[in-house]
Amino acid sequence: MIKHILSFLLLLSFVLSIPAQKVDVVDRNLRASVAYLASDALAGRRTGEPGANLAAKYVEKMFRQYKLKPLSKDALGKASYLQTFPHVTAMTLGDSNVLSFRGNAKGEKIALKVGEDWMPLAFSSASSFENATLIDVGYGISAPTLGHDDYRGLDVKGRIAVASDSVPDRNFSAYDNRRKATIARDAGAKGLIIVGDLSKYQKLNYDNLGDAGIPVMVVSEAKFVQIKSAFSTASASGSIDLVKKTADAYNVVGYLPGTDPKLKNEAIVFGAHYDHLGHGGQGSLAVNSTEIHHGADDNASGTAALIEVARQYAAKRNNKRTLIFIGFSGEEEGLLGSKYYVNNPLYPLDKTIAMLNLDMVGRLKDKKLNVGGIGTAEEWRDLVTKKNDVIPPVYGKGKGASFTTTAPESYQRFSLQLSEDGYGPSDHASFYSKQMPVLFFFTGTHEDYHKPSDTAEKINYAGLRTLVEYVVDIGNYLDWNPKRPTFKVAQSSGQGEGRRGFAVTIGVVPGYGESNDGMLLDGVRDGGPAAIAGIKGGDKIIKFAGKEIRSVQDYVYVLGDLKADVEYEIVVKRGDETLTFKVKPQARK
Ligand SMILES: [Zn+2]
Repeated sequence: MIKHILSFLLLLSFVLSIPAQKVDVVDRNLRASVAYLASDALAGRRTGEPGANLAAKYVEKMFRQYKLKPLSKDALGKASYLQTFPHVTAMTLGDSNVLSFRGNAKGEKIALKVGEDWMPLAFSSASSFENATLIDVGYGISAPTLGHDDYRGLDVKGRIAVASDSVPDRNFSAYDNRRKATIARDAGAKGLIIVGDLSKYQKLNYDNLGDAGIPVMVVSEAKFVQIKSAFSTASASGSIDLVKKTADAYNVVGYLPGTDPKLKNEAIVFGAHYDHLGHGGQGSLAVNSTEIHHGADDNASGTAALIEVARQYAAKRNNKRTLIFIGFSGEEEGLLGSKYYVNNPLYPLDKTIAMLNLDMVGRLKDKKLNVGGIGTAEEWRDLVTKKNDVIPPVYGKGKGASFTTTAPESYQRFSLQLSEDGYGPSDHASFYSKQMPVLFFFTGTHEDYHKPSDTAEKINYAGLRTLVEYVVDIGNYLDWNPKRPTFKVAQSSGQGEGRRGFAVTIGVVPGYGESNDGMLLDGVRDGGPAAIAGIKGGDKIIKFAGKEIRSVQDYVYVLGDLKADVEYEIVVKRGDETLTFKVKPQARK
């Protein structure tokens, strides 16, 4: 007992003897990084835009300053901190966008002017159609669960469906134009015309999810009235030509080589995304706002912490394993940067023992820290709990006995909220999908989330500093322990199927990103409905419940209409094979 108290006091005096100056350096570094990254100068760091590139430059500058080594190569094969990946930033009109209407094949023609009378939508397929008759489909909604079907009794095959751009009421708010296009395509329509206020459609907003499979365009209300009064039955001819603008996006990757002859051949990845939402738009929760979304918490906070963690390891340089630090881009667009990294790894993934992700760690409140991914390694729960103690557990060597204590609550850094799932809405999910133990640190969401008001002065810097210490302690343990953490498949909390609330799940992890020929699965939850049916990670879903699946968006629409415990057919591509399975969705808890 005396031993215990004695070592307790010794440790306490050690804790208290940390020079105040050292603490100030950490605080100053964190503040400087957040202040710069969340400043107006970086304009919200939207992937592919100059502000995001400035952020990448900043992370690179800090890595260079701390003498981390570059892990990537540039186009000429020279060592570089930047891992470049392509990103669609904008969609513009090509030269041949044509749309005209006739009453019959030889009759008078009304030709429309693109930009003035009509506009293609950004997710339209780039294709053409000739003399296709029009058919009115009302709102263009087919919603079995809501008891509404505008397509009932209509034969739209080979015709151009015409729908209004509104919905009957608030219950149908999920039926946006993209969803209407999918419904039209599934019904066999050759294309879809949306009739609406053209001023809302002057800008082509591309969602990086691929096209809808048919031509989709908006015609102004005035023009459409003119066409309807000119012809009793009209047919349309046209072609759509869209040009994708791509820009380079960058993951910033630096490393500290290991010092142990054997362990240096294994690596630990520390990551944080530095991109955010720019001036709003896709992903923003401030509707119609064009103000700078500062993203101080999301994720200047995690980036600042990552840089500081790197600095502290770089100052010691006694890491046994190789430590890799990555600032990811494209996270807000669907984990694009981390997905690119795991598909084009700069260090072998099977030699990467764990990934620690810091995303939104600047709003510590009531000491509550969420740590996700606890179920992805056997050792995690024990490790994150022990390292949460400011005073490490004391091991007594009493005569014939040994004991362990856990620090009392007041000596714990955080009030930990642990969750099992390795998936979730951030970059660690990309690594977990490659069977890697992951930890996800997150201080929780708040009312400024994805709004311009997520600003630097709201950051809890003391909390952020404590998080840095915690991550370094966990990292040290992982680094020095000769045994790597044991990967296991975690219990799912069902976040894998996107951030929306669905009534049912089939337990799959969709691959985000662009596709036009099916939805690739990054993973399948063990014991989930899809796994029971025989579906595997790497399969590409091409048909589900009778509907064609071309992209993750199509899948999301279908899933929203399914019922639990009812059997549905699912068709997948596995290599060259096409396989059909029967799957029963489960109710979500
Ligand atoms: Zn975010």
